[in-house]
Amino acid sequence: MGNTPTEIVTRFAPSPTGDLHIGSARTALFNWLLARRHGGKFLLRIEDTDFERSTPEATKSILSGLNWLGIDWDGEPTSQRSLQARHKQIVTQLLNTNKAYKCFSTKEEIQKNRESAKESGDSTLFKSPWRNVDKDQHPNKPYSVRLKTPEHQILKINDEVQGEVNWSNNQIDDMILLRSDGTPTYMLAVVVDDHDMGVTHIIRGDDHLSNAGRQKLIYQALDWPVPIFAHIPLIHGEDGKKLSKRHGALDIKSYAEMGYIPEGVINYLCRLGWSHGDDEIFSTSQAKLWFNLENIGKGPARLDLKKMEFVNKQHMSKAPYKMIEKYFDQYLQNIGEDALSTSQKLLLNNSFDFLKIKIKTFSDLLEQITFIKVNRPIIISDEKLVTLISNNKKLLNDLTPLLQNVKWTRDELETLLLDFSSSYNIKFGELARPIRIVLSGKSHTPSIIDMMTVLGKEETLARLYDFS
Ligand code: GLU
Repeated sequence: MGNTPTEIVTRFAPSPTGDLHIGSARTALFNWLLARRHGGKFLLRIEDTDFERSTPEATKSILSGLNWLGIDWDGEPTSQRSLQARHKQIVTQLLNTNKAYKCFSTKEEIQKNRESAKESGDSTLFKSPWRNVDKDQHPNKPYSVRLKTPEHQILKINDEVQGEVNWSNNQIDDMILLRSDGTPTYMLAVVVDDHDMGVTHIIRGDDHLSNAGRQKLIYQALDWPVPIFAHIPLIHGEDGKKLSKRHGALDIKSYAEMGYIPEGVINYLCRLGWSHGDDEIFSTSQAKLWFNLENIGKGPARLDLKKMEFVNKQHMSKAPYKMIEKYFDQYLQNIGEDALSTSQKLLLNNSFDFLKIKIKTFSDLLEQITFIKVNRPIIISDEKLVTLISNNKKLLNDLTPLLQNVKWTRDELETLLLDFSSSYNIKFGELARPIRIVLSGKSHTPSIIDMMTVLGKEETLARLYDFS
């Protein structure tokens, strides 16, 4: 990583205009992992300078998305808005050192200039006539402050992901640092804040690559060290197109509501653009040990929801049970479902080994545990299932007394049910179907023997008698 500074400081700098986008979550994750891997700091800065689009609700939602993922930050989040006095102070410094100048051109003049340049086929980059005008000739009119971009300079950055990137002079205008309404621009604020926060590494989407070139000019004008940049390719949809709503959920909140486990999402996001050999499934702790900039891919990553589900499934089945319980509680709360009671939790604990094979998400888990959540007498709402039960009443009434006498073990139950179905000359599935409905009220459930063993003899028989 070249001349790596002693302490790595990274940051996540979201604009609070909506929920935590999956691409932004990945940016936060990469910055967080790099800092954690090197024992550095990961800072959070809310870029709330756009008064019209920034909302406190969005800030709250972004923080809660990060919290859900388990991405923690050092210190308090900074609000960029609160730092405007400092930004203005730097503008004054740049004016005083002749690195910036006041520009009195109006919007209309700039627009006119652009149009006539277009017509004559010249560069449309605005060259302010005020760049070299002496102070004593300044009018008493509103002005913006522009950076005096050095002429004849080849601008270059060595990006950790994109490699060397160059801009020629005619691609760079004298950017505005302070607008005529007195507000600092994003370009200036980012540089000042990153410098003041001691940020050493900036990982962000490659839509910011050209900003990096401009920002470097500001660093140079201030004689500040330029941080290490790593611009990561944006996430695309499976069809290779820019990610949009039609590719699926775009914010982290939705994945929480769909029943993903944070470790699964973290693992999948890591693999979206970064690799560690052939490792596909790994924990967040492993990612914290392994993450590096060298293995960030150059090509755009593609969001593959099937793969994401697969990765999630692995994490659901590998997670320590305590973790499952904690996240499942959170999931139920997120979707507005009642929490499990202590006795239901006990049943879930006893079932999780067979349930985990069947589920990819907590939403699957919720569906599978209806037999745990229902209370007697079970009300069956589906008419078809009601008919199925009445058609099988005799079968169930013949079976129940036999169950009364069996030793309640998996093997004994299996033998009894198999013998019973063959004595009735029906397939096991035909016997299982009404039992499954009686035990859960539904037709999609775990296996009947699994449910019976977890519910116990008394409860199983009580549910069967309810329908006799
Ligand atoms: N606030 C910017 C954004 O949300 C990020 C700026 C940066 O990372 O430098 O796109």
